[in-house]
Amino acid sequence: MKTSIYKIAVILMLIVFLSITMLGCSKGENYQRTAFFMDTKIDIAVYGTNKKQADAVIEAVFAEMQQLENIFSRHISGSDVNRINEAAGRTPVKVKPETIIVTRKALEIAELSGGAFDPTVGPLLELWGWGTEKPRVPSAEEINKVLPLVNYKAVEIDEANATIFLTKPGMKIDLGGIAKGFIVDQGQEIAKQFSVKALFINAGGDISITGSKPSGEKWRVAIQAPRDPQNWAAVLELEEGSVATSGDYERFFEEGGEVFHHILDPKRGVPGGDVSSVTIVAPDTLISDALSTAVFVRGKEKGMQLLESLQGIEGIIIDKDGEIYISSGLGDKIKIL
Ligand code: ADP
Ligand code: MG
Repeated sequence: MKTSIYKIAVILMLIVFLSITMLGCSKGENYQRTAFFMDTKIDIAVYGTNKKQADAVIEAVFAEMQQLENIFSRHISGSDVNRINEAAGRTPVKVKPETIIVTRKALEIAELSGGAFDPTVGPLLELWGWGTEKPRVPSAEEINKVLPLVNYKAVEIDEANATIFLTKPGMKIDLGGIAKGFIVDQGQEIAKQFSVKALFINAGGDISITGSKPSGEKWRVAIQAPRDPQNWAAVLELEEGSVATSGDYERFFEEGGEVFHHILDPKRGVPGGDVSSVTIVAPDTLISDALSTAVFVRGKEKGMQLLESLQGIEGIIIDKDGEIYISSGLGDKIKIL
């Protein structure tokens, strides 16, 4: 008799314990970690697993992403991009398969955007001192001198031999507008080897989401108000996929009372676009990252035109006056605040 009461008590306690832990899960329990690399802050959240597994996933994802950064950075000597630039006008350079993939995609986006996105902006970025401690405004003469070097059509990819060749001496590629997106996507690929319910990565505004929250709630991604970055301009509600933002408030400097940002118009050699921020919603981050830069440079009208012409890709443009423009397919996924 005594034992059965004891048993019932244990079973009851177990039920209470289980429902509490399930409650914990249903609230979307997750493990979060932050790291700093790729010149930015990277947040990861893992859902629907235990701490040990979450730690293992996060380690693996960060390791993969960091290793890829070493291939794509223009500033790391011996990186693929660095070697390609060093050999400009002289010889094709053998590179890793990832470099072929990202460069090919970069050339496709360049073509698609009518050259608003151009991975050969390297010489201009250097002239403006981006990536150094002291960005500065170059003279018109300096800009005109390097403009002929900015031309994505002068990049040759030899897929069979896995080489890339910049055909003019002095040319330089910079994959800063696309590589971060690719690296985030590769982080997600690595995470697929583990059994987690969902994974969220935010690399300085390049966001990728796979899976759904254990709670079943939708993902909510806030878009910053460009002139008041502590506040939100809008919120997106999403199932899965990617969101990336390019903004004039991310990297900029002031000179002579004027503000200069880091997204350049490849045709004019000066900061491009008549907008403050562009957010792209797409299935993968490589696309959303590159298109946010491309649409930014094309500006309000031509940028929206491009967005409307693309299937499965949506976007939000905020202009210099804070006016918000939303592509037609976004529907009730966006709430303006
Ligand atoms: P962030 O890197 O701040 O998130 P973006 O995704 O918009 O911003 O990428 C901007 C980066 O892309 C610049 O730092 C530079 O490396 C590169 N870039 C600048 N202008 C262009 C352009 N017109 N086309 C392609 N890449 C560009
Ligand atoms: Mg981007």
